Amino acid sequence: MVLKLRGGKTAPNPVNPRPPVKASSPAEVAALADRLAAAGRAAGFTLETMGEADGVPLLALARPAPDGGPRVYLSAGIHGDEPAPPRSLLQLLEAGFFGNHAGWYLCPLLNPGGMIRGTREDSAGRDLNRDYRSLQSAEVRAHVAWLRRQPAFDLTLCLHEDWETHGFYLYELNPDRRPSLAEPMVAAVGRVCPIESAAVIDGRPAAAPGIIRPDPDPARRELWPEAIYLHAHHTRLGYTLESPSAHPLDQRLAAHREAVAAACAALPGRP
Ligand SMILES: [Zn+2]
Repeated sequence: MVLKLRGGKTAPNPVNPRPPVKASSPAEVAALADRLAAAGRAAGFTLETMGEADGVPLLALARPAPDGGPRVYLSAGIHGDEPAPPRSLLQLLEAGFFGNHAGWYLCPLLNPGGMIRGTREDSAGRDLNRDYRSLQSAEVRAHVAWLRRQPAFDLTLCLHEDWETHGFYLYELNPDRRPSLAEPMVAAVGRVCPIESAAVIDGRPAAAPGIIRPDPDPARRELWPEAIYLHAHHTRLGYTLESPSAHPLDQRLAAHREAVAAACAALPGRP
């Protein structure tokens, strides 16, 4: 979860029991990174290792846009207890989703140390998704150093899970009121996964079922999640996608795939 001003996720949950910690062995997480790298190479991406955490590379995959094509950034895995997002990007890579009409920039496994431990935080106990202003962690510093070498993005999608909700929802940062991709994403996800129907989601009022439009002003944020950093420096249209951890993994994977596909299909500038 991102864009939350209150710290951490320690409050008692009135809805779902906190899921058990699902740690992975270092070998399993390294194997996931290897598979992401192999799928990226096979799909024509250039691979970079931004840094490493717990012996696992922090991967960045890029394939530039054709002339005039939109540039799309996707990230996953910044919270180590959210397994669906990195695996959904792997599925999209292996399925050949990333076509030649756009440029693609993927950071699919941003917190391997957290995934090894089954924790939201990294191995030093830091929530990396609150570190994009102060840059205390080596992982986020490495990520930001890579981002600074990239062009502006026409769309950013940060993939997450939320164990507290019963349905999919998203945050939209769209201060210029560009054609919103929120409704197409929610409509597409709704065919494979429930949409969160609460009027208040993660402490914020929903603008529509499953859609939160928070204040995008980075200056009013003390702690910056990745999405706010991207908004401040790289994009004018950004989404954070949250699938419900209470639902089966296959359903969360489908939710992310459908959301990504719907956003990219509706993105202006696509030929
Ligand atoms: Zn998260």
